[in-house]
Amino acid sequence: MQSTMQDVPLTLGSLLRHGLANFGTSKVITCTDGGTREVTFTEVGEQAAQLANALTGLGIADGDRVGTFMWNNAEHLVAYLAVPGMGAVLHTLNVRLFPEQLTYIANHAEDRVIIVDRSLVPLLAGVLADMKTVEHVLVIAADDESLGTLSGKGPQVSRYEDVVGKQPTSFAWRTDIDERSAACMCYTSGTTGNPKGVVYSHRSAYLHSMAACMGSAFGIGERDRVLPVVPMFHVNAWGLPYAAWLAGADLLMPDRFLQAEGLCPFMSTTKPTIVAGVPTVWSAVLRFAVEKKIDLSFLETVVCGGSAVPLSLMKGFQEQLGVKVVQAWGMTETSPMAAIAHPPAGLTDDEEWAYREKTGRVFAGVECRIMADDGTQLPADGEAVGEFEVRGPWVTGSYFDGDDPDRFSPDGWLRTGDVGTLDPLGFMQITDRSKDVIKSGGEWISSVDLENTLMGFAGVLEAAVVAVPDERWGERPLAAIVRAEGSKVTAEELRHLLSSHLARWQLPERWAFIDEVPKTSVGKFDKKVLRKRYANGELDVETLGAPPA
Ligand code: AMP
Repeated sequence: MQSTMQDVPLTLGSLLRHGLANFGTSKVITCTDGGTREVTFTEVGEQAAQLANALTGLGIADGDRVGTFMWNNAEHLVAYLAVPGMGAVLHTLNVRLFPEQLTYIANHAEDRVIIVDRSLVPLLAGVLADMKTVEHVLVIAADDESLGTLSGKGPQVSRYEDVVGKQPTSFAWRTDIDERSAACMCYTSGTTGNPKGVVYSHRSAYLHSMAACMGSAFGIGERDRVLPVVPMFHVNAWGLPYAAWLAGADLLMPDRFLQAEGLCPFMSTTKPTIVAGVPTVWSAVLRFAVEKKIDLSFLETVVCGGSAVPLSLMKGFQEQLGVKVVQAWGMTETSPMAAIAHPPAGLTDDEEWAYREKTGRVFAGVECRIMADDGTQLPADGEAVGEFEVRGPWVTGSYFDGDDPDRFSPDGWLRTGDVGTLDPLGFMQITDRSKDVIKSGGEWISSVDLENTLMGFAGVLEAAVVAVPDERWGERPLAAIVRAEGSKVTAEELRHLLSSHLARWQLPERWAFIDEVPKTSVGKFDKKVLRKRYANGELDVETLGAPPA
């Protein structure tokens, strides 16, 4: 029997219209060098229409990719709404990727237009000439210098305001398109070499936004003021811009001021109720706020995730600032919010900690199971350890272009690469990671890239890089090197050589020279053994100074 229900597509065009029709006076406040600037949702809607009209004029049509190279600000929100709202696909370029990775993802996604913040022009200038499909670059608040820096590299370079500013302020938003068509895309650093693309649909982004607003998730409503510190170029700032827009919550945008010194005054002025970011950010905010005696009691929820959240950080916030931190888990592949660690009902404050410390329980809509190496499902008894696999309407079923099909089980679940236990109440606890990457301060460093680069240097026979715990950054790379015969190459020399290939923050401080890299039965580097040796203090580790910038 068929239902009698209407079949109205869930699109970002309708999400855009909902925010405009109901919350026109809600605000978007962006942090600036000397203070803040403010626009209403109505103004954002008008600017989005202008951008959509301008992009149409540049020949952008359904399914075309528009890249953004931007911080968290009102203009980025305009692009978030306009690009999918007109039927094109928003591709947020992660400004923290290696140059080679940036050009790879822009070429792989076939971006036709890039919108760039003026402050990021120097970074884009280094890679633009290699971005083969880009035809236009629109520079926000451009001056002659920034336009000059980008010109002559292939694409036509224009001042954003010149192209967008005079366009009509209305647009026929596409609420009729197939809800399964592409709306946005993000790349995630892979275990092997190149980043992989995840393409979100209108439907997945809409459902993810509704889920984020649920009381059992972040509970976002019109009275909230949401501050995404997590960058809009990294998994859509955890979907918060769309969720806040849908709920009519004010959006507070930190722009490039992501350090505690900039964030704390911005928060004191704008008084967010819900903030979200990685543990490194909140550790720095905690230290700064305690030291400077800054009152942050207006915060109702600090959502923290992206890597394991230390108990000391959660307790520090609660005891020293009177603010609750909630741990959440997700991945680029899961849009990203998939689990959150709200404790079960009926516990004392003390009992709650045991649950708040866990990784989280899945949101309604997402299912989770743990699997043994041989592909059998393990019991959710809080003891059996296996790889988490997830599925749901906002979990990707493949990578763009069919990359890395092995990350999906034969019955279509996503293999997360996160390893741990699942308890009878559905709480996941991540204890390890099978994927070969390092998460430092919320951003990935590919161990494979580091190894390949290191093994390309004379004097290095083998190089294995593993993630090791770091108090400040969560994880940092440890490089274990086997010198070639007769070589006397030093850690200093290798790091110096690496510095022309990698960003400063990606360079390892910890180095160990070993006789042989431990190998698995099939001859792969056995990083578990290496990590264990490090944990047991069996490696002779040399630590170079200079923390990552
Ligand atoms: P990304 O795709 O960059 O968002 O990274 C996703 C990965 O970050 C996950 O697969 C985990 O390895 C890690 N991660 C995210 N949240 C947490 C968390 N709460 N605890 C531990 N690891 C996490």
